[in-house]
Amino acid sequence: MTMDAGEKATLVSELGAIVGVRYVLSSEYDLMLYEYDASIDRARPDVVVFPASAAEVSAIVKLANQRNVPFVARGAGTGLSGGAVPLEGGIVIAFQRMNRILDIDYRNLRAVVQPGVVNLHLSNAMTPNGFYYVPDPSSQKSCTIGGNVGENSGGPHTLIYGVTTNHVLGLEVVLTDGEIVEVGSPTLDTPGYDLTGLLVGSEGTLGIVTSITVRIVHQAESVKTLVGVFNTVDDASNTVSGIVEAGIIPAALEMMDQIILQAVEDYIHAGYPLDAAAVLLIEVEGLRDTVDEQVSRVVAVCEANHARAVRIAKDEQERQLLWSGRKEAFGAVGRISHEFYVQDGVVPRTKLPFVLDRVNEICASYGLRVGNVFHAGDGNLHPLILFDSQIPGQVEKVRQAGFEILKVCADAGGSITGEHGVGMEKSDAMPLIFSDDDLAVMTRVREAFNPHNLCNPGKILPTPGRCADIKLLIGQQHSPAYAQAEVEGAWH
Ligand SMILES: Cc1cc2nc3c(=O)[nH]c(=O)nc-3n(C[C@H](O)[C@H](O)[C@H](O)COP(=O)(O)OP(=O)(O)OC[C@H]3O[C@@H](n4cnc5c(N)ncnc54)[C@H](O)[C@@H]3O)c2cc1C
Repeated sequence: MTMDAGEKATLVSELGAIVGVRYVLSSEYDLMLYEYDASIDRARPDVVVFPASAAEVSAIVKLANQRNVPFVARGAGTGLSGGAVPLEGGIVIAFQRMNRILDIDYRNLRAVVQPGVVNLHLSNAMTPNGFYYVPDPSSQKSCTIGGNVGENSGGPHTLIYGVTTNHVLGLEVVLTDGEIVEVGSPTLDTPGYDLTGLLVGSEGTLGIVTSITVRIVHQAESVKTLVGVFNTVDDASNTVSGIVEAGIIPAALEMMDQIILQAVEDYIHAGYPLDAAAVLLIEVEGLRDTVDEQVSRVVAVCEANHARAVRIAKDEQERQLLWSGRKEAFGAVGRISHEFYVQDGVVPRTKLPFVLDRVNEICASYGLRVGNVFHAGDGNLHPLILFDSQIPGQVEKVRQAGFEILKVCADAGGSITGEHGVGMEKSDAMPLIFSDDDLAVMTRVREAFNPHNLCNPGKILPTPGRCADIKLLIGQQHSPAYAQAEVEGAWH
């Protein structure tokens, strides 16, 4: 949107009257910091505002409606699909001040938090009492629970316990007209439509969350972490399916390939082998006796799939070191490439060997290097495509390679996002998995909650009229590797 200087000055002053002038940012220098998240898209807001309560959020949203100005919720801005990027400018509502844990109720296994609470801070607050909050995105040191709700985030330990939506009991929400409502309830079952389920993962397009009631759980009696070392990615991938086929669902089952291992080891020094094609980081937890038995069975599956070594972390310190290698992997890659682009697709576990080969072929056909670090147990791929935006044409190549990877995932019976959301980055890929009718129904849902489309516009759904162009693009945009595989009928 275009806002002239006079309109902007009025808006800034009206927002200042709601939250206090020191909690409104409007200089170009300040706004620059809010024009991006962790994806590669950018758009500058007209103003950033930091509310301290649901009542203030409600007043901001009412003002935005009066002035016909778009508004976008923002947590920590670690999103990887442009969800918090204000595509059409307007107001960014940032939640740094609403960062309090309001209640922890150990007897009823639930906690109530404001949306700006950093994910890890909630678990840290409960550690002395032996409890934690399960969803643990690798960004958990910085991302907020409000952002996790926006994206329905997962993490290494959501394989067995489920993603954010499985851990949210209820929400307080400011609707897009400014009304404050509550959905869900602190009890385990709420009759009527599952509005909490609808709002979790809606990427801030259906309302603004101002309080979240989450489940909390006891820490397990025993936890064991193993590293399986493999000479081929195929062997590592087959081990993933083999473990699940053996009836074991580990708490976490992560894969890192050689490029990632080398970057991580150079940074964290966790003892990962530099010459392995891939390692699996596997964690099992539960009662002590059952964990020991599961460890033996996991080791047997690794060995049956030609693991050249299986190492079991000897103590908590070694376990934490192995995990910091995994959780700092994205940061470590920054040491070997100016920039990288994280894709996020899902495939059935059994298709991992085939799809990982295609990912490598697609990137090679564009002359791009790629590393893979991902939630293998969920079949949730994260190819990190390395690039340098200073090289003319590289950003376009990265986007095209990313799109082709999503097409491979969709064709393999998977999805275009596992946990990072659609945002502005992948709305064009929605027709890969949804029909025109599906998208029309979703548009009607959005219109029911967000009739003026002022709440985070331009996200999730492709722009009307673009669908036909996109379908054409889907038919045409093939790298040589993709075209060859299609000729060979390798997609199914
Ligand atoms: C190094 C790294 C590792 C990552 N690892 C993982 C991972 O393992 N698993 C995973 O799922 N993701 C991962 N991510 C992605 C990202 O951290 C998550 O999507 C996270 O949930 C975003 O939280 P945030 O606070 O940064 O939200 P933001 O990026 O600020 O916002 C994300 C979305 O939520 C909406 N939103 C924010 N607050 C609210 C609110 N109060 N009400 C309504 N909508 C709101 C925004 O509008 C936006 O659409 C990773 C990112 C990085 C950079």
